[in-house]
Amino acid sequence: NENESVSITVVGASGDLAKKKIFPALFALYYEDCLPKHFTIFGYARSKMTDAELRTMVSKTLTCRIDKRENCGEKMDEFLKRCFYHSGQYDSQENFAALDKKLKEHENGKASNRLFYLSIPPNIFIDAVKCASSSASSGNGWTRVIVEKPFGRDSESSAALTKSLKQYLREDQIFRIDHYLGKELVENLSVLRFSNLIFEPLWSRQYIRNVQFIFSEDFGTEGRGGYFDNYGIIRDIMQNHLLQILALFAMETPVSLDAEDIRNEKVKVLRSMRPLELGTMVIGQYKSHTKGGVTYPAYTDDKTVPKGSLTPTFAAAALFIDNARWDGVPFLMKAGKALHKKGAEIRVQFRHVPGNLYNRTFGTDLDRATNELVIRVQPDEAIYLKINNKVPGLGMKLDRSHLNLHYAARYSKEIPDAYERLLLDAIEGERRLFIRSDELDAAWSLFTPVLKELEEKRVVPEYYPYGSRGPVGAHYLAARYNVRWGDLGIDMDQ
Ligand code: NAP
Repeated sequence: NENESVSITVVGASGDLAKKKIFPALFALYYEDCLPKHFTIFGYARSKMTDAELRTMVSKTLTCRIDKRENCGEKMDEFLKRCFYHSGQYDSQENFAALDKKLKEHENGKASNRLFYLSIPPNIFIDAVKCASSSASSGNGWTRVIVEKPFGRDSESSAALTKSLKQYLREDQIFRIDHYLGKELVENLSVLRFSNLIFEPLWSRQYIRNVQFIFSEDFGTEGRGGYFDNYGIIRDIMQNHLLQILALFAMETPVSLDAEDIRNEKVKVLRSMRPLELGTMVIGQYKSHTKGGVTYPAYTDDKTVPKGSLTPTFAAAALFIDNARWDGVPFLMKAGKALHKKGAEIRVQFRHVPGNLYNRTFGTDLDRATNELVIRVQPDEAIYLKINNKVPGLGMKLDRSHLNLHYAARYSKEIPDAYERLLLDAIEGERRLFIRSDELDAAWSLFTPVLKELEEKRVVPEYYPYGSRGPVGAHYLAARYNVRWGDLGIDMDQ
């Protein structure tokens, strides 16, 4: 709209996330012509910087997509001209009022919409929200605030954070980001389920034996353990990213694609789940390991981690949804750092074929070779379905093959980063991929009791070597449900 402008203020612009994700995503949106015509970007932080210095800092982070190298430099220059910097404290009304003045100059009398991206440590969220809302919110357009995880560390602190945020903002102004929801294959989950006849009818306890949500990193905290140690892998990955995917996976068909309808269904699933229990969990922490002459550090070797820390860097858990669709189906989650591979996958293992003719006739071991649908969220996005197939030839030999949708082969387009989708949605006011406060409450109620118990009992994690497959206990846990964990990406190209 000609008469409207959008100002995006990155609060904490000097930080890691701003450089790594936010500015590059904003540039990608600009390049794709997705930003409104009249937009301005402001960096805000305590560090002293001029506009030129901010532009130099940002320019180092920008890249163009492989298929869009034309005019790249020109586009970057145009983009950088729209970026400015204002130095200030996070708890200073005056500093935010000065920002407001600068924003107004750029808005040039147009109706002004304002988006604040809080890319700062959680202990200063509220100060910044207070100052931004009272001294720099828009007088004649919308004001929205994107908040990054962590949203508290248990039910109480999360509720306190929500309560404080709501002193200054309405729920519809708060955009709680979970960047997993912006990932292409996570967004595609609903398309896969609800627009293909062949999946949704099978999506229940009747045909699905178990579902696995696996997150694996092949590096440790590497000097950034200070933040991590206070949270641990359960809070950092399971309670948010994996649980969000689970909710999307397991929800009932929403009334429409409207954000409220989708989030209503997600909350229903979360509220039908049993809180996690220590007895159905395994926690681990990586220890030092020497391989090929190289010694990899233990978690507690990280200088930023307190000595003797028991914080889990690995966790596996069995979760259950007590509703008619999923009664008794184990949903297994596994997340870990310093493992042998990196990636994130959803694996759906189907039941065996009742009275399988081929088992009876050939006495093969096909019972174990049930169908499996694998959704590989990252890296190298893919969806593939393992099927039993006849090996071509005169004999009757069966093997497992794949119906394979490999994104790099099927779609020549580079897949946008999750932050691009989420920033665009926040600008457009699309809330589908952001977490509503009741979703957050439901998610915390599932995890808070076990997190408390782990901490109160000072449960010692199972130590696993850096670069390994993680604690053996995770395999025993799965075996209790007659499940074998899928091995990340191992069977992709069969
Ligand atoms: P960061 O680099 O540690 O901090 C961002 C900026 O905040 C810093 O440049 C600094 O700017 C200011 N700041 C840092 N510590 C402060 C303190 N104690 N008091 C006041 N200001 C302080 O954080 P980040 O990694 O960019 O992450 C930003 C937010 O995103 C955090 O909430 C984090 O949990 C979340 N997050 C980060 C990532 C990631 O990959 N980095 C991923 C997911 C979520 P000035 O000194 O210039 O003011």
